[in-house]
Amino acid sequence: DLSPVARALISVSDKTGLIDLAKALSARGVELLSTGGSAKAIREAGLKVRDVSDVTEFPEMMDGRVKTLHPRVHGGLLALRDNPAHVEAMKAHGITGIDLLVVNLYPFEETVAKGADYDTCIENIDIGGPAMIRAAAKNHAFVNVVTDVADYEALLAELDANDGATSYAFRQKLAQVAYARTGAYDAAVSTWMAGALSDDAPRRRVFSGEIAQTLRYGENPHQKAAFYRDGSDRPGVATAVQHQGKELSYNNINDTDAAFELVSEFLPADGPACAIIKHANPCGVAKGATLLEAYQKAFDCDRTSAFGGIVALNMPLDAATAEAITEIFTEVVIAPGADDAAKEIFAKKKNLRLLTTDGLADTSEPGLAYRQVSGGMLVQDKDNGTITLDDLKVVTKKQPSEAELLDLLFAWKVAKHVKSNAIVYVKDGATVGVGAGQMSRVDSALIAAKKAERMAEALGLDTPLTQGSAVASDAFFPFPDGLMEAAAAGATTVIQPGGSMRDNEVIAAADEAGLAMVFTGMRHFRH
Ligand code: 5GP
Repeated sequence: DLSPVARALISVSDKTGLIDLAKALSARGVELLSTGGSAKAIREAGLKVRDVSDVTEFPEMMDGRVKTLHPRVHGGLLALRDNPAHVEAMKAHGITGIDLLVVNLYPFEETVAKGADYDTCIENIDIGGPAMIRAAAKNHAFVNVVTDVADYEALLAELDANDGATSYAFRQKLAQVAYARTGAYDAAVSTWMAGALSDDAPRRRVFSGEIAQTLRYGENPHQKAAFYRDGSDRPGVATAVQHQGKELSYNNINDTDAAFELVSEFLPADGPACAIIKHANPCGVAKGATLLEAYQKAFDCDRTSAFGGIVALNMPLDAATAEAITEIFTEVVIAPGADDAAKEIFAKKKNLRLLTTDGLADTSEPGLAYRQVSGGMLVQDKDNGTITLDDLKVVTKKQPSEAELLDLLFAWKVAKHVKSNAIVYVKDGATVGVGAGQMSRVDSALIAAKKAERMAEALGLDTPLTQGSAVASDAFFPFPDGLMEAAAAGATTVIQPGGSMRDNEVIAAADEAGLAMVFTGMRHFRH
């Protein structure tokens, strides 16, 4: 199944490594064909190269829209070398076989990312490139197709190992990568066009991702897994720099994402904030006068659960905070930077991963969220809803004070990132009890209160911190019972969406218990 490589067609937009590759191929006796800019670069490097326009006997035309779209090119890529009729057709029409195609496409994705205008984006849709890639990939029985600069080295190694030929297995792997590339390319074009259309009718969608990391396993050791990047430059786990520690696992990536998205709700301008995450739910979130204080207050919400957690900070990690974090076992720390002293402290903890990002994520940014279900995919807008003081409607006789309003909004922001049913108690800018993922809102209220009691014992306090707290519920209380549990735990102010059939009963119960309650008019289910 070895197939010799005698002739190569090179047509690349990204000219990285082009000359080295052309030299290496020339040295191995491979004849080079090439298009305009690529041919020029190869020729200038002193190598022999034939222009594709010379082969097709057609000039490149229409601003490069038509360069390689010709039977002499496509016949050369598609002809089955062992099929007499194909060989006959090649002879009859002056077609010579092309054994190796090296193409990388017009930078469509980069052009869109730069915010180019519509016509520029259109002009950056490569036509001849994908056509050739698909032709060569189809004919991988004989033809090699390289679409990634990163594969140049492997190609040369394969040629050397096989005396100037390549194996079928090698060509088949290249073909699979090639179709992934053309698929992703068209997905990018389609996604861009969906954004350019003005009506918001449901659209057909294609999803694609570049493999970023093969993971050791998935959620459990018997599940295979990989991490794919979608090309977005959003600060977060996919784009962060890892400074130390072993490779992130599937669960680490999932939890680190949850931690960073949550802490990104707290702008540095409003002071330091810290979120500690376990199993995608926060076990402590706090603001503080310093980053260290924010971490300590977050830690004090639920010290037991914080063990082996993920810590996210909204400001660059400093030495004092780094020192405190290393006092217990922590899996990952993610922050928009870390100073040298902090890095030095972490360096002593070999297993601790430190990730730094380029700023915080913009949580108000629009985007899509996907979830797989059997037989399909659910697609929705990301939950980028935010509530400000102006959106709140006081529904009880009692009004919350200004300080209480701040705690209510803080609790609300956290509740958005807690799996439903979510109940979050907050006191003085720190969570003091988080109830997550229960099937009943009453149970979430109870569990959070119970955890607060346990922490009070551990901290040697007379009363749990939920006394006099603000409580947030991610969705309305359907009955007064959940609200009453929160009141029993000591909550004195409440934030919730409202909108239940029994809002009147719930408001009456709040009034009777002397609570101050506000409605947001927005729900934050998270499942
Ligand atoms: P060069 O810099 O060599 O002039 O152009 C290389 C680029 O042209 C590559 O990205 C390749 O995919 C693209 N290309 C090759 N043939 C055609 C064609 O016939 N039409 C279009 N639109 N692009 C082509």
